[in-house]
Amino acid sequence: MDMPSVEEEALKIIQARPEGVLQSELWKLLNIDSRKCSRVVKKLNDADLIDRVEYREEGLKTYLLKARQQAVDPSLLMAGDELIPCVGCDLDCTVEQCPVLLDWMYELAISEVNE
Ligand code: SF4
Repeated sequence: MDMPSVEEEALKIIQARPEGVLQSELWKLLNIDSRKCSRVVKKLNDADLIDRVEYREEGLKTYLLKARQQAVDPSLLMAGDELIPCVGCDLDCTVEQCPVLLDWMYELAISEVNE
């Protein structure tokens, strides 16, 4: 999806916090005014990228914003120092029988034991 950067920025902030972000905080974090923030949040919500739940903060109504999908933890792509071989791979793929991937998973198992 082609998004202007303020939406991307907002999504990144929301994704980085699994517990969610209040809309009343988000516009301060983004350095934009609250009306612009409402439009940004509406776009993300309309695109099904976030959930927006009504929330009361000291009697004032705001929204708690949570990402539908959390950002991927890059460390999940690593087995020790080895990046998962599927990144950049152009072999004919049969995931269940791939010897390259099996080797990597073996490395992963070893690196987890050694931690
Ligand atoms: S499973 Fe094997 S063949 Fe498929 S993308 Fe990963 S490394 Fe490449």
